[in-house]
Amino acid sequence: MCGIVGYAGHEPAAPFLLEGLQRLEYRGYDSAGIAVFSDKVRTVKSKGRLADLRAKVDAAGGVPGCLGIGHTRWATHGAPNDINSHPHTSMSGHITVVHNGIIENYIPLKEELEAQGVVFRSETDTEVVAQLFDKLYNGDLVGTLIEVIGRIRGSYALGILCTDYPDTLLAVRKDSPMIVGLGEHENYIASDIPAVLDHTRSYYLLNDNEIAVIKAESVELLDLNRQPISHEVFTVNYDISAAEKGGYDYFMMKEIKEQPNALRTCIGSRIHDNEIRLDKLRLTDEQIKNIGRIHIVACGSAWHAGIVGKYVIEELTRIPVEVDLASEFRYRRPILARNDLCIAISQSGETADTLAALREARANDVHVLSIVNAVGSSIARESDDVLYTMAGPEIAVATTKGYTTQLAVLYLIALKFGKIRGILSDAEESRLRTALEALPDQLEQLFADEAALEALARQHAEKDHVFVIGRGIDYGASLESSLKLKEISYIHSEAYAAGELKHGTISLIEEGTLVIAVATQEALYEKLISNVKEVKARGAYVVAIVKEGSRDVEGVADQVFYIPDTADIFTSTLTVVPMQIFAYYTAIARGCDVDKPRNLAKSVTVE
Ligand code: GLU
Repeated sequence: MCGIVGYAGHEPAAPFLLEGLQRLEYRGYDSAGIAVFSDKVRTVKSKGRLADLRAKVDAAGGVPGCLGIGHTRWATHGAPNDINSHPHTSMSGHITVVHNGIIENYIPLKEELEAQGVVFRSETDTEVVAQLFDKLYNGDLVGTLIEVIGRIRGSYALGILCTDYPDTLLAVRKDSPMIVGLGEHENYIASDIPAVLDHTRSYYLLNDNEIAVIKAESVELLDLNRQPISHEVFTVNYDISAAEKGGYDYFMMKEIKEQPNALRTCIGSRIHDNEIRLDKLRLTDEQIKNIGRIHIVACGSAWHAGIVGKYVIEELTRIPVEVDLASEFRYRRPILARNDLCIAISQSGETADTLAALREARANDVHVLSIVNAVGSSIARESDDVLYTMAGPEIAVATTKGYTTQLAVLYLIALKFGKIRGILSDAEESRLRTALEALPDQLEQLFADEAALEALARQHAEKDHVFVIGRGIDYGASLESSLKLKEISYIHSEAYAAGELKHGTISLIEEGTLVIAVATQEALYEKLISNVKEVKARGAYVVAIVKEGSRDVEGVADQVFYIPDTADIFTSTLTVVPMQIFAYYTAIARGCDVDKPRNLAKSVTVE
């Protein structure tokens, strides 16, 4: 998820690695490290900033050698500390690895290796790769890597050193980017082009399951059958800042497009053998059965995720759920019982109000389960349980993948608790689990509407007011959709429960007012269509977001966007995406700074 850089050449590797990692700093990270091979592999790693790592390297008098790998870690498994930082070396010292991504089956592999006497040093999933590689190693580097790939599941970009091969760097990827940079008498690997853009403009872009064997004078690409692959050399002519954004103009669009993969990781790593596993939860099945009430506390988009979560959790578990703005909860003397559960949601894990709300809950002996993206953040550390969203670093201030992965975790909780409490039958749970697993691919299909949404945005960019209406879960999703527009385009936008509009706000609808109607709930569909007719009658321009196959909408709305069919309770993950893209292009059309909207901060660490 974060940064990898590697060097095979004739110059000292360490300065190259440190410089490459610096180029990847924009991605966000919590620790870093390098390993360089000369007579032996020397590793230096450090929690915190690259400056801390540099200081350690300097204190060691440099790290000699012309073959090396470096990593900036964005922790997913295990706190960000020196030991968990990459590179990781196997017990015998033979194999050293850097890894981006998540090894989903690391627990059974770790148990298997421990039973064979392997002692692990870190809490990471990554160390399993180094130890497993070493265990399977038979002198054949590529053969062993192929065996390792056959055993691990999940997403990975790997850079590997082996002490038997003092001139060779090994790389492979699956669902996590990795490129090979081609230099003069030296070659490189990197998770992202900017890391090596100062040194070369020629690359091989590795595809999933392609192996690269890299030496100073050669690069060999092989498939999993050890057959050579020929790749065209990809040349870039863009500058560093464009490269950091992966070719996108803004991080926000990059992150919108990262959502399918983020969801694959977030959901896929929790479903094993047709079962949802929320590993390491301290909350026991007995406690789950006895939960009296759930209090969701959050701010901003995370609060919106909580509102959708309320509908889903109540539906699947029949546990009453209250959703509170953390800034209100902390001061309103909430009524809490010992068998209640508090769910605190925060992308950064540092949101000051949410942290205070969590403390309030814990002071009342309420178990706190947090849903957080940043591993080892304050909220994660202070919670009784944490489920990470595994979305990877989010840089744009307006959240996209942070929000949709929060929803995914809430769905997982609802399904798991519903099953444990006997509300969901096996058949129903299986139907919904299958629908959940389909969401990443379905979300990806929505990108086909990008051009139409861009045109819509240009058409309405000068509007002063926009309304987003929906009922039930669609109202929850409307809140987030409306916020996206406000945050980055500065157009005044309001989300309304569609049935509430005529109790006052409909007075604001006039000729040409843009109303976005989200109508995906089967039981509420006709009611929503009636609400659309009400605003149409007052001159509104209506854009509807509905499920594929919805009836009668074409004749009522001015424009319709369809989302793929899914269970009604999961539609918010899909309906919000056209609105993210619409908000993005509206902001562009109005000349706004999409990634850094005025007055807003990414992580709100003040009250
Ligand atoms: N899952 C690995 C870890 O937590 C890699 C994280 C990353 O991609 O930076 O150590």
